[in-house]
Amino acid sequence: MNRQVRLAARPVGLPKRSDWQFTSEPVPEPGEGEVLVKVRYLSLDPAMRGWMNEGKSYIPPVGIGEVMRAGGIGQVIASRHPDFAEGDSVSGRLNVQDYACVPGAQLSKVDPAAAPLPVYLSALGMPGMTAYFGLLDIGKPQPGETVVVSGAAGAVGTVVGQIAKLKGCRVVGIAGGAGKCRYLVEEMGFDAAVDYKAEDVRAALRRECPKGIDVFFDNVGGDTLEAALANLARHARIVICGAISQYNNTTPAPGPKNYMALLVNRARMEGMVVFDYADRYAEAVRDLSAWMAEGKLKSREHIVCGLDGFPEALLKLFTGENFGKLVLKVADA
Ligand code: NAP
Repeated sequence: MNRQVRLAARPVGLPKRSDWQFTSEPVPEPGEGEVLVKVRYLSLDPAMRGWMNEGKSYIPPVGIGEVMRAGGIGQVIASRHPDFAEGDSVSGRLNVQDYACVPGAQLSKVDPAAAPLPVYLSALGMPGMTAYFGLLDIGKPQPGETVVVSGAAGAVGTVVGQIAKLKGCRVVGIAGGAGKCRYLVEEMGFDAAVDYKAEDVRAALRRECPKGIDVFFDNVGGDTLEAALANLARHARIVICGAISQYNNTTPAPGPKNYMALLVNRARMEGMVVFDYADRYAEAVRDLSAWMAEGKLKSREHIVCGLDGFPEALLKLFTGENFGKLVLKVADA
């Protein structure tokens, strides 16, 4: 049988267990051109919260009663597509379930010998692509510039900071808690880290960025964005990657009060959606894998086990309990 987690209701605020429905149905048979995949690992992403809401976004919402959308890694158990054979490890949109029947054209092969499978959901997966293109294409960091990243100890943030260091920048991370801040400096090579739960972020950024912020890569929004706007260098670039502090709001998020800092500093703020770069993923994978092989890029995953625990596991992203890329392990090989 194929256990599935379906969206039962549109959540108000943080999603509750009753917003989900657990169902079971026979494992599907692959049709012509399809591949049947046993799901091993699922990517738990802050974006999932947005996909649960009605309304226009960069991707349609998950419908009520539909299996929850999720990227994942799995193993081919039957294939009717010429590019895939039984036993292959693949990544794609597998959704929150035990087995996924997916058109072969929507899957990519991954090499379990080159990296542990969860890394393909982390630095070598969607968060890595987001960091790479968001920072390099939109942030355009130059050697000697100051790059600040919020959500710095997370899946996207750690990769952003490490790439910025590779590009010769001063890198300051903003994260919650002394443990995460220590990790950024001692393990990830950041120049400094600001604990937004323990200090005034505006004052800390003034201290750590004496020449102002040239690139702000924002994963958090809200007060953190305002603190960065208050410390910009002239011609700063702000990459709007996410605003996790606002995802569970029940009223619309207020805009940054001090947006005129963009005018004063001749600065630019630009949003990015990783899927727009799909035809260039190979470029990012090539660079990220090479940096990893050279020991210049580290990936950290936080693995939680069991499909049944999906509702509670997802919440870790919003409490900051995850330390690294949050991955749900669904099955062993
Ligand atoms: P993550 O950073 O691994 O996990 C989320 C982290 O957000 C938590 O660990 C927590 O860290 C922090 N957080 C949660 N609530 C917060 C709050 N109220 N204020 C400040 N920080 C808070 O997640 P991720 O997958 O790397 O995603 C990071 C961001 O990138 C999200 O905003 C996501 O939506 C965005 N994203 C965008 C794209 C795109 O294409 N634009 C693609 C992927 C991800 P602390 O313990 O430090 O608080």
